[in-house]
Amino acid sequence: MSEHQKTAIVSVYDKTGLLDLAKGLVENNVRILASGGTAQFIRESGFPVEDVSTITHAPEMLGGRVKTLHPAIHGGILARNMESDEQDLKEQGIEKVDFVVCNLYPFKETVGKIGVTMDEAVEEIDIGGVTLIRAAAKNHCRVTILSDPEDYAVFLNELYENTQGEISTELRNKLALKAFEHTAEYDSVIADFFRKQYSEDVAQLPLRYGCNPHQKPAQAFIADRDELPIKVLCGVPGYINLLDAFNSWPLVKEVSASLNLPAAASFKHVSPAGVAVGLPLTDVEKHIYFVSDVDDLSPLACAYARARGADRMSSFGDFIALSNRVDVCTAKIIAKEVSDGVVAPGYEPEALEILSKKKNGKYCILQIDPNYVPEPIETRQVFGISLQEKRNDAIINKSSFKEVVSKNKDLTDQAMIDLTVATLALKYTQSNSVCYARNGMVIGLGAGQQSRIHCTRLAGDKADNWWLRQHPRVLAFQWAKGVKRPEKSNAIDLYVSNQIPEDGPEKAEYESKFEAVPTPLTKSERKDWLSKLNNVSMSSDAFFPFPDNVYRAARSGVKYIAAPTGSVMDKAVIGAADSFDIVYVENPIRLFHH
Ligand code: 5GP
Repeated sequence: MSEHQKTAIVSVYDKTGLLDLAKGLVENNVRILASGGTAQFIRESGFPVEDVSTITHAPEMLGGRVKTLHPAIHGGILARNMESDEQDLKEQGIEKVDFVVCNLYPFKETVGKIGVTMDEAVEEIDIGGVTLIRAAAKNHCRVTILSDPEDYAVFLNELYENTQGEISTELRNKLALKAFEHTAEYDSVIADFFRKQYSEDVAQLPLRYGCNPHQKPAQAFIADRDELPIKVLCGVPGYINLLDAFNSWPLVKEVSASLNLPAAASFKHVSPAGVAVGLPLTDVEKHIYFVSDVDDLSPLACAYARARGADRMSSFGDFIALSNRVDVCTAKIIAKEVSDGVVAPGYEPEALEILSKKKNGKYCILQIDPNYVPEPIETRQVFGISLQEKRNDAIINKSSFKEVVSKNKDLTDQAMIDLTVATLALKYTQSNSVCYARNGMVIGLGAGQQSRIHCTRLAGDKADNWWLRQHPRVLAFQWAKGVKRPEKSNAIDLYVSNQIPEDGPEKAEYESKFEAVPTPLTKSERKDWLSKLNNVSMSSDAFFPFPDNVYRAARSGVKYIAAPTGSVMDKAVIGAADSFDIVYVENPIRLFHH
């Protein structure tokens, strides 16, 4: 047995395993001091126990709000093995405490009950217990903290093994970490409860569900800040809308900052379907982006027309991000499209009025604080495990494209704009990803493919479609009366992607869209037209493992490539670029995004 009698403070809400613990403590000659209910429980089972009031000389008060909050307890726990602390204890007649056993009021369980009142919740906020746990954990170089009944057995084992009543450093450390985790989690549950009570729609947004309707509950919130950086001006954002908003907004912000032009993005399922800067549109572009009827396109409107028009199939029902205050012209274009929502730093009153009428008043309109800067470290949970990383704050601009490794080194200014747009798009696209850009806009993006060549093909096919949509025969399509924009986009897509239905109801449906059914393009007509696509830029989020990517890109008019190097095949890949006189720039930054 120990020469100096050890002391344990015991104060537990959950009495599981308490009697076994008390028995072990008593058998090892440990003095037990316990709070009201805990002392009673131990006493009724016949084990010797003293009330904490024996040393505090103060009764429990305020209906249990103050039980163990007393210098006699906390001085005894927090005192170090040093002369000045020993002296302080001696002057105050306080004994050192060696073990603290404490678990907390069940706040989480209480607030999880239906119809819980604020008073009930408040009473379940443990004060003294958290203080006991933190004090003991802080002084764990001397004190052992047991905050979970699961740990009583291993603690008792050591106690029985060691006649001095000493607990190993290893166990004390482990239990202290657990205690800190426990109080941190406890406080986060309390903060979550009060955030929902006092900061709904400010720092917290309730969501109807998560990714799918059966994933409830769901919410968005920001901790450690007074408010979320977004305000909901109309509609009710969903979980995926917010994922889109928080990926598309930084994208347009960065594109706009890098190129000093208004920028727009059209997102679907957390990847861009289109991204563009506000360069003026030609008449053909106006036609294929369905904005010929809009006068005086503002630069922001041009950016959105391009972003929405690049891949009209993928952009159907998009979530839009706009870098600048939304003007009436842009709002009018959005008004005509099928779209789920928009995020922008502001809205002209009339633009907001136009957008608020969309989807019978349910269109999701978010206003984002353009000055919001997220924390540098980001954490997410997957399968119950927290993953943490530094945010991808890589800056991409024209100066990123300096390392030309091909024979042809003639990188034009337009190519640098296009590579900037393409590369920034990849920064916010699910990997693997490859992007083709031209005229300051994405014209083909392959996202989320496991194989890089599949990204390159997918994006290349989309770029081809974008170009084929400009074929004079497509521009001359005569539509049947009443055919809507999405139906036109679908029919055009069948036509340009060489998927015109040959028979059955699909053919009938296809043909019903036209006043005069267009003659399909022959193989050589397609080839001919595609051979005119030129000066396309292409970026890749990681290196190309084989030259096949370059071969495929060259078929879609690619003249400029930016990609990281590092593949054993780099030489062959760059050699392939040289054989097409392509300018190949090494991008030193890999841009995986998940
Ligand atoms: P008992 O059942 O012993 O009366 O109470 C045990 C519970 O009281 C434990 O969950 C412990 O965390 C909590 N507790 C201990 N000291 C204090 C205190 O001073 N104030 C409050 N509010 N709770 C305490």
